[in-house]
Amino acid sequence: MSRISFLQCSVCDKTYPIEKINTYATCDRCEKSPLICEYTLLSGLAKCNIDQNERSMWRYFEMLPVLDKKNIVSLGEGWTPLLSLPRLGSWMGVHKLLLKDESLNPTGSFKARGLSMAISKAKELGITECITPTAGNAGGAMAAYCASAGMRATVVMPRHTPQAFKTECQYFGATLIEVEGLISDCAKKVAELNVEGRFFDVSTMREPYRLEGKKTMGYEIAEQLGWRLPDVILYPTGGGTGLIGLWKAFSEMIELGWIENKMPRLVAVQTENCRPVVNNFFDVDNAPEAKASIANGLSVPFPFARKLIQRVLNETNGTAIAIEEDEIIPAVKEIASKEGLFVSPEGATLVPALKKLLASDQVHPEEEILLLNTGTGYKYIESF
Ligand SMILES: *Cc1c(COP(=O)(O)O)cnc(C)c1O
Ligand SMILES: [Zn+2]
Repeated sequence: MSRISFLQCSVCDKTYPIEKINTYATCDRCEKSPLICEYTLLSGLAKCNIDQNERSMWRYFEMLPVLDKKNIVSLGEGWTPLLSLPRLGSWMGVHKLLLKDESLNPTGSFKARGLSMAISKAKELGITECITPTAGNAGGAMAAYCASAGMRATVVMPRHTPQAFKTECQYFGATLIEVEGLISDCAKKVAELNVEGRFFDVSTMREPYRLEGKKTMGYEIAEQLGWRLPDVILYPTGGGTGLIGLWKAFSEMIELGWIENKMPRLVAVQTENCRPVVNNFFDVDNAPEAKASIANGLSVPFPFARKLIQRVLNETNGTAIAIEEDEIIPAVKEIASKEGLFVSPEGATLVPALKKLLASDQVHPEEEILLLNTGTGYKYIESF
């Protein structure tokens, strides 16, 4: 049984019923802040409530918002490997380097978790037509889960996105619309196409259930480490769903008494081309206008959940850091040649970021460090 109770505004705490279909599920009281799923009935839930036979993120069904299992739209997302990287680790001079490899998800990125959840809830709410702006991976994942659910999909993507992202959407049967600019320009196009509210808009953090899918990464990290957490997690941040999802999972597990009351320090990693989270964290004004990056998923100039991201970084004693564009491809090569993993440019940013954090003493070599690789490098071949 799902233990979900209601949706709650992340800023002013106003609550909303879960039965309501919101095409723009944001708070109407305080500047449209994101709504978050709350589970007041979590107490008493034990680790044995995890479905050990389910080798996907749906093993955590009771902590997830889908009410009826028959509405689950799954392609086998989640329960990805947690790998140890001894060769890269010793090259970087750290003792315990781990990598959660989200490249093995359907459509090659962790977006599969969020979109499996969002499309399952959309199905449960009787929705038949979805739309999203995307930097690439979210669109592909939405198109795939809509195909599997028999729903119509419209994906709005920057024209400069590598071809694989576009082709997969078309093959999944989605309508693909290309826009000049970044994901923020795609969002404007979506708003324009959806003035009549015909589509269910699954934009990052404006739709409350994608976060619940991403949250399962946090449960998996704890379970795979034997119910403890690393000291530091580096996370390539765009819209921030993953970062917020990890924090939400850790908070829930602390409340449940499943893990010790000690959060890992969460580090948001961005590129110099587009660094709104870093600017926000360090109060930088007059930042230059955001540019495209080879790490498409990080090119989100105006993250809708910026306040929540800031709160997560503060509460976990974390930080934010930007790396140079020309450090990305060498890092992809370094991880590939040392560990046999062909990671996405987004995931690769974590290596130069970790180097900087070690050099500035913000992370120590004897700490346990987890890199969250969000996607596969294979979809970006033409960018290399
Ligand atoms: C979307 C995406 C990101 C950013 O994720 P958020 O949860 O939006 O911060 C990072 N890496 C890849 C590969 C992505 O597709
Ligand atoms: Zn509110």
